[in-house]
Amino acid sequence: MNNEKVLGMPTDSDTLHFLDDECDGGASKELVWRLMVIDDEPDVHRATTFALAGVKILGRSLQFLHAYSAAEATQLLRTEKDVAVVLLDVVMEREDAGLALVKTIRQDFKLTELRIILRTGQPGYAPEIETIHDFDINDYKTKSELTRTKLYATVTAALRAYQQIRELDELAFYDRLSRLPNRNKFIDLSDERLESGNFLDDAIAILDIDDFSEINDALGHQQGDRLLQSVAERLKSELGSDVILARIGSDTFGLMGSTQRMEPLRVLSLFREPFWVHDDSMVVTATMGVTKSLGAGVTGRDALKDANIALKRAKKSRRGSYVMYSTEMGTDIRERVRLLQNLRSAVESERLFVVYQPQVNLKTGAVVGVEALIRWKKEDGSFVPPDRFIPLAEASGMIVAIGDWVLRVACDELVRFQALGLPNLRMSVNVSQIQFRHPDFLEKLRVALLETGTNPKYLELEITESVAMEDADFMLETLHKVRELGISIAIDDFGTGYSSLSHLRQLPIDRLKIDRAFVTELNQQVSGGHIAAMVVELGRNLNLTVIAEGIEDDGQAQTLLGLGCHEGQGYLYATPLLPQQFKEWYQARIAKVP
Ligand code: C2E
Ligand code: CA
Ligand code: CA
Repeated sequence: MNNEKVLGMPTDSDTLHFLDDECDGGASKELVWRLMVIDDEPDVHRATTFALAGVKILGRSLQFLHAYSAAEATQLLRTEKDVAVVLLDVVMEREDAGLALVKTIRQDFKLTELRIILRTGQPGYAPEIETIHDFDINDYKTKSELTRTKLYATVTAALRAYQQIRELDELAFYDRLSRLPNRNKFIDLSDERLESGNFLDDAIAILDIDDFSEINDALGHQQGDRLLQSVAERLKSELGSDVILARIGSDTFGLMGSTQRMEPLRVLSLFREPFWVHDDSMVVTATMGVTKSLGAGVTGRDALKDANIALKRAKKSRRGSYVMYSTEMGTDIRERVRLLQNLRSAVESERLFVVYQPQVNLKTGAVVGVEALIRWKKEDGSFVPPDRFIPLAEASGMIVAIGDWVLRVACDELVRFQALGLPNLRMSVNVSQIQFRHPDFLEKLRVALLETGTNPKYLELEITESVAMEDADFMLETLHKVRELGISIAIDDFGTGYSSLSHLRQLPIDRLKIDRAFVTELNQQVSGGHIAAMVVELGRNLNLTVIAEGIEDDGQAQTLLGLGCHEGQGYLYATPLLPQQFKEWYQARIAKVP
């Protein structure tokens, strides 16, 4: 066990102890439990100290503090630290002086570890159960009950509880390796400082050791730990006690202090000298994200987020240096986070739905299929475009559940469309890479087919070109398995990826989908549909059907038909439609194009 003295928060580091100090035997001063007797009758003070004179409890002797009124106790508790237990009279200068003091202790002083034993002279009088519960009062005794043995037992129980609470708090708020406050404690401490209003000239920073995981892997975890300790020690001694310093992540430190003490280049210069790990010297650098945006209402947690945004920027562009947070950096990311939270609740409250965009045979005009496209309608009636939320859903992993759900809904709808007299209609469903790579993907496909009664022959999955070209072996295998289920595969956004012809040739696919960008291009003089023509040619060579998306006018449709493109989809025919709208559109269309 360690025998260094512990660092608590920098402002009162000498008053906080790690509790394991008591078993190390090397601590310099004797450890005691501090008890405060608060009672307006001097006799009670005398009787209490007499009853407990000379006893040791849980290995420590007792030290008494005395207050003769609630007011005096309030004064004392302001300055005296580490009081473990108070023995508190209920009735003193006022009927409820004791209970009022309890409130002060818990709510104003936030002394949550301190144990409270209430004592009263009147046997009939007792505080409400709720009061005992709300203010975490340990014990309630009438004074006659406090005989020597009973008092000893009561105080022992309270001290044991105090010790346990302290241990839990140490675990919850301190990092054992660096002996610095941890992230939670850093947030508490910075909140305190922010609440006190003395932060106008302050900055909050996150300092990240560059390439720490590589160092850790190369040297082993023990050396890695030593290095962290060494960094922690240097930061602590060089920054001084005016700066709140914490270890907030495995290789990150949180700092809060005056802009002068926290001058980023000065802090980073602390890394110029090598660190000593046993007998080896090691040079490491660090990167910092700093925020000075500590206006009113900003919490420590907010500030850490801002500093982290700045840190990410710094790591991307200038490692070994720092970036100062600016509000513009935050809005972008916060908006994404808000969007993601909204998406989560949209999924829960079923504000997502699926629309279907028809696909037609360019030559005959016959309706051959529909593409299922997800929609998100917000409570205010506005829509969030999938191009905005799908990437977020992918990044957060939510796309797996969402994609699954789309697949289900689309299959159900397909069965219904077919029952309504569109027996050969094909349903195309977009599948994101994350979804596709999920280990349960094939199984979920199978179950969806089975449970919805979908004929796999009419189901098609759209996979973007860039995905199809990644990790060739895995793709090949999975695509084959999808095909074995009877499902067809289209390569979406074709022309935007980096397919090699040889790779494309191997893939078990059915259709190439020309990206909208190349269809739009058909109207432009310069590039003039060069890529669209190439894709059609490629499809012909590989024996694949080619479909063009985003056809908006008849000229484009005619050009594509002329190139030999088989199928088309776009506003020229229909926008994505709700199921009922699609049925109506279909009826109207066969009336025109039989
Ligand atoms: P995408 O797969 O390329 O889908 C085609 C997009 O083009 C759709 O946009 C469609 O509404 C739009 N579009 C169709 N015809 C025209 C046209 O004539 N002109 C123009 N300007 N646009 C047209 P949408 O619905 O906004 O979807 C955007 C993207 O979001 C999709 O691109 C797809 O990548 C993704 N997405 C949509 N639904 C899903 C889904 O269920 N799962 C996954 N993973 N992605 C989806
Ligand atoms: Ca698509
Ligand atoms: Ca596209």
